[in-house]
Amino acid sequence: MSARAEELNYLQPYIASIQTIRDKITGIDYTDKKRTIEKISSTFSNTKQPIYKLVLDEKPISRNNNLIVGYCCQTCGTCQEITLTLFMRKVNKGTKRCAACVNQDDKKCQTHSEFMTGKIVAQSNWIPRETTKHK
Ligand SMILES: [Zn+2]
Repeated sequence: MSARAEELNYLQPYIASIQTIRDKITGIDYTDKKRTIEKISSTFSNTKQPIYKLVLDEKPISRNNNLIVGYCCQTCGTCQEITLTLFMRKVNKGTKRCAACVNQDDKKCQTHSEFMTGKIVAQSNWIPRETTKHK
C-alpha cells in the first residue's frame, strides 16, 4: 500500500464519522460542504511540522474557528458534538475513542491482563468440551 493510500485509510473513518458541521456563533450549517482532511504545514509554526486540518470547500480551517462537529465515535458509536479543534486533536493524535468509551476500554484491558496472568482461566474450561463433542 502506498503512503498516500495508507493515509487515506487512516483518515477515512474520521471523515465518515462526521455527521454535522456548524458555526456556533453564526449558526451557519456547513454539513453539505465538500469536506476532506489534509496534512498541511503551518507557515506560522516554528516546527513546520505538518498537521491534519479539516478542509471545507477547498479551504483549510484555521485553528481559530467557531465550528462544532457532530460525530459518531468510530469505536462505540456514541454520537456527540465537540469543537472542531478537539476533533482535529483526536485525528492528529490518532485517538479512536471518545469520552464515553475510553473508560470501557480500560475495563477490557484489565480483564484481558487478568486472563493473561491466569486469574480467569477457569472460566474457559467449557470450551474444549464443546469442541470435542462432534468427533
Ligand atoms: Zn466512543
